[in-house]
Amino acid sequence: MGDRLTVPEPGGGDRDEPAMERVLRPRCLADFVGQPRVRGHLELAIHAARARNEPLDHVLLFGPPGLGKTTLAHILAQELGGTIRVTSGSAIERPGDLAAILTNLEAGDILFIDEIHRLGRQVEEVLYPAMEDFAIDIVLGKGPSARSLRLDLPRFTLCGATTRAGALSQPLRDRFGIVERLEYYDEADLRRIVERSAQVLGVDLDLAGAVEIARRGRGTARVANRLLRNLRDFAQVHGRGRIDASVAERAFAFLEIDARGLDPSDRRLLRLIVDAYGGGPVGLGTLAAASGEEATTLEDVVEPYLMQLGFLQRTPRGRVLTGPAYVHLGVHPPAAAGTVSGPQPRAML
Ligand code: ADP
Repeated sequence: MGDRLTVPEPGGGDRDEPAMERVLRPRCLADFVGQPRVRGHLELAIHAARARNEPLDHVLLFGPPGLGKTTLAHILAQELGGTIRVTSGSAIERPGDLAAILTNLEAGDILFIDEIHRLGRQVEEVLYPAMEDFAIDIVLGKGPSARSLRLDLPRFTLCGATTRAGALSQPLRDRFGIVERLEYYDEADLRRIVERSAQVLGVDLDLAGAVEIARRGRGTARVANRLLRNLRDFAQVHGRGRIDASVAERAFAFLEIDARGLDPSDRRLLRLIVDAYGGGPVGLGTLAAASGEEATTLEDVVEPYLMQLGFLQRTPRGRVLTGPAYVHLGVHPPAAAGTVSGPQPRAML
């Protein structure tokens, strides 16, 4: 998937993130564009925690990849004057791994666990007392002589991020005092994000160029920034370095990214549903096998944006194309297609 410009990998944490993304990361809440509800809630909670001289409540951020969860975790640490420790649900395999991380924290630290829904059940159980009582229970020995020892931890803040809030166990979810859902950015916010990034990178971008990028950014900051970097290259080679409407138009034609930000793989997927499955319903597993995409990528990344566009619906019987998708593809719905009309759903997680 890494070669698809328009598909942000799930869990874009710090680990193998290009240095460029780090450069583009806003450092404080004031520079974080959009998401006014989330920003407002966090601002309030930060002020209150600071005034009480207490650590911030544990924060759960959820939403599709590339919307700013990792960025917000870094900002929280910055605003609270703590250090951020970054890890991910799949990297913590055993309870002992988590215990080692927790016992190395210092007061006021932010522990960022990306893809937190991947934590195993046993690991999760270590997290419960850590979140609630700032303590962990260590079992010494085995069998009847086993003893449990309680170790106090410094008062830290856990920031969990997930693309799938529904995959989190209820007990874990309940232990977060602040739960925030990040939404896709609208075009105006994406434009501000690419304009800011252009400034940071010293790219010559005019308003029309910014609008064209924002329109194709799939509501996702990471995608919009990636498109900006690609257009910068294109403008250098095929223009005079300036990204304007004409350069943008030629660059997107070259990259085969259409007016709604869909790339050839997206269009192939939509065509597949029309041509091979009469517009649906078709199951996720079938679509994954037929399109060669990972089922999780389809479910977590590709489909939410197609649903946001009103191109696709998830029904109990499978995926169904909706009217606007046919208009976009310029094809007639198959006669017996299970097309769905009426209000289009917002993206589901
Ligand atoms: P996630 O953790 O949700 O996958 P990230 O926090 O890694 O997403 O964000 C991806 C990139 O998008 C970051 O490098 C950052 O430059 C940019 N970004 C995300 N949200 C914003 C925002 N609100 N304002 C400006 N840039 C943003």
